[in-house]
Amino acid sequence: MSESADLSQRLAYLSLGPADLELLAELRPVLAKHADNFVAAFYRHLLSFEPTRRLLRDPAVKERVLVMQRGYLMSLAGPTLDEAFVAERRQIGEVHERVGLEPGWFLGAYALYTSLLTPLICEVYSGDPERGSRTLVALQKLLLLDAQLAMESYIASHEQKLQYLTAEMGREGQRLGRAYEKQRAELRRTTQRAQAAEELASIATLVAGLAHEIGTPMGVIQGHAKMLESAISDDNARWRLRTIQEQIGRISKIIQTLLNMARPGRSRRMPIVLEPLLDTTLMFLSEKLAQRKIGLKRRYEPVPSVSGDRERLQQLFLNLFLNAADAMPDGGELCVCVEMSEDNEVAVRITDTGTGVPEADLPRLFEPFFTTKEMGEGNGLGLMVAKGIITDHGGHIEVNSREGEGTEFRLLFPGPGLASGDGI
Ligand code: ADP
Ligand code: MG
Repeated sequence: MSESADLSQRLAYLSLGPADLELLAELRPVLAKHADNFVAAFYRHLLSFEPTRRLLRDPAVKERVLVMQRGYLMSLAGPTLDEAFVAERRQIGEVHERVGLEPGWFLGAYALYTSLLTPLICEVYSGDPERGSRTLVALQKLLLLDAQLAMESYIASHEQKLQYLTAEMGREGQRLGRAYEKQRAELRRTTQRAQAAEELASIATLVAGLAHEIGTPMGVIQGHAKMLESAISDDNARWRLRTIQEQIGRISKIIQTLLNMARPGRSRRMPIVLEPLLDTTLMFLSEKLAQRKIGLKRRYEPVPSVSGDRERLQQLFLNLFLNAADAMPDGGELCVCVEMSEDNEVAVRITDTGTGVPEADLPRLFEPFFTTKEMGEGNGLGLMVAKGIITDHGGHIEVNSREGEGTEFRLLFPGPGLASGDGI
């Protein structure tokens, strides 16, 4: 409904018409005469209550209130009821909403106007009580119209604020939800890592025990084989003995790897700058890479040093580089990147364009003795050792691979200030 149609309807409902306004206009001289007293009485009344008194504490506000009350009083003497009038009256409600004055207080002020003005009007029309009472009714209607408009705009502003608050709360809720999800995912990852570290630790203990058990009889066999060397003259028998010794050598190597893995607290940590360590390790492999026509790409972004054991880290990188080289028998590209991860960890990414890992094999990669290589070429311990080393450094390893396309191993070391202080 348009503003003017709305106003006409209101006036019709209140039956507030030109006759009323004429009666009110006649009050102008009386109101002007009593304006000072009226405003003073109004002010005293406001001072008697804490919520209204609080508003008047500021002298500037007090001055404004008094000027506005006088203006309001005079405006009761036959105002022009148009859209400008409505807008001004609505503003009263908005101001009160803004200063935090509840409707009870400003509706009370309309009652106060009635009680102050009624005796005045009765006195003026003591000779014509009928006209006096019509004037009083006209005044009531006008005050009620004002109260209506002020109340409605108070409610509207209030609702707007509530709507804003509701929307803001909704947004805050979403933000909290997202933060919660992130925390939960983080927790899940941490739990998984802790579980993996635990599993690894128990496997390592088991394997170390086993290696020790096998190592002792192996030593005895090797000793006896050595003694046989001089006692055998038959070529065929010598060849067989050599094979036995070679195979014992292989087993010893595996055992040594396993024992190395399980030697706790032997090394000390120091700050390691990763880039030169990676370069040195890659140098060991340069011949192998060249032979296989494997191109090397390096991208080192500035990262802080990590706390670690140089030799073990070198072994870790070497294991991954060797695997990458093995995965590219017909050439390809090995890419080594150093960068900060999204979680502020130091990340080393080792990517190859090799055979990739079949999806079914992915969960088994880090298991001891899991290998897809020919007998004698792989022992299936490289990745298990690699995982043990990075875990000891407080980090973790991730793998991303697609069969036929290549593989990426990502090593994540605790970022600056996060390295755990345990010995390796
Ligand atoms: P090994 O190299 O002795 O086989 P590892 O533990 O180092 O043992 O690796 C286990 C297996 O994981 C490998 O046999 C191979 O199947 C797979 N693998 C490891 N790295 C890669 C890689 N970069 N590309 C493809 N497969 C890989
Ligand atoms: Mg390997």
